[in-house]
Amino acid sequence: MVTDHPGDFDVMRARDVAVPTLGPREVLVRNYASGVCYHDHLIRVGVMKRGITFPLILGHEGAGIVQEVGSAVRSLKRGDRVACTQWTENCGLCRFCRTNRESLCAERKYFGHDRDGTYAELFKIQEDSLLPLPSEVGFEEGAILSCAIGTVLAAIRDVGRTQAGEYLLVTGAGGGLGVHAVQMARLCGATVIAQTTSPEKAKLIREAGADEVVIARDGKFADEVRRVARGEGVDVVCDNVGAPVFQEALRATARGARYVLVGELTGDTVTFNTARLFLKGVSLLSTTSTSRAQLADVIELVRQRKLRPIVTERFPLGEAPRVHRLMVDRKLSGRVVLLP
Ligand SMILES: [Zn+2]
Ligand SMILES: [Zn+2]
Repeated sequence: MVTDHPGDFDVMRARDVAVPTLGPREVLVRNYASGVCYHDHLIRVGVMKRGITFPLILGHEGAGIVQEVGSAVRSLKRGDRVACTQWTENCGLCRFCRTNRESLCAERKYFGHDRDGTYAELFKIQEDSLLPLPSEVGFEEGAILSCAIGTVLAAIRDVGRTQAGEYLLVTGAGGGLGVHAVQMARLCGATVIAQTTSPEKAKLIREAGADEVVIARDGKFADEVRRVARGEGVDVVCDNVGAPVFQEALRATARGARYVLVGELTGDTVTFNTARLFLKGVSLLSTTSTSRAQLADVIELVRQRKLRPIVTERFPLGEAPRVHRLMVDRKLSGRVVLLP
């Protein structure tokens, strides 16, 4: 599915393109599932611009079988099952790459953004971005390990340092990151309060393990969250939505809370009184994408079934335009995949 230029849903078209040629450290993967992320939509409509050149194949979530390896590839061979991180290139040498923070590498190229991605039958990616996918984990699950699960593992466990006994708020809890953030927070021992604007998603969110589901009416939810969280507010926020919920979510924090920004759905600007932050001792934090080490942890947690990837629907790859429309209209819950 090639996007020739930014625009409406139907700018994505099925088309035959040349099979990518491989550099020495690159791998060609036969793709069996592509997760659909709001990030893809933001590129397609032209909200995200940095590093992007069209025509572009969208998608940074894929899983499949190695078809061909470059001459210097040593960790993988033809026929191996694999899952990928969200970037196609990083230097491997800088202080960020050396400390499991590859997403901050200056030479990082984001998959399906700076480079062609996974809305395709085959995709090319660097060896360092691939990890073996155990036979117990299916390709549809494998496709969503990195973005939908790895990102919230980074946010809740590593950046938010969530402790057993704390209260944690997940915003946009019915979405692809949200339903996995609920599970991750439970795994870290937190009491999970899940915010959503869609009452019809509450059942899925409860099944994912939320202790409380708060339906935001007219955009308001802070009072209800504070009431549930010992009357004081939450210790950690995993914010998958950004600007539209920021003020309410900040108001829902307890003293000393960590607010972790993960997603930004609108690209809008927010203003707030900085004193509100420091007088409460709230830390404003963020994370994006998944390190190789974090993906390895996700794979192991899923293999042991301590985490359950939630793929709610599947569509043929050619239906990408319809799937984007459903996503924008908030008709999708959890993660959905395209099947090449
Ligand atoms: Zn994503
Ligand atoms: Zn680097």
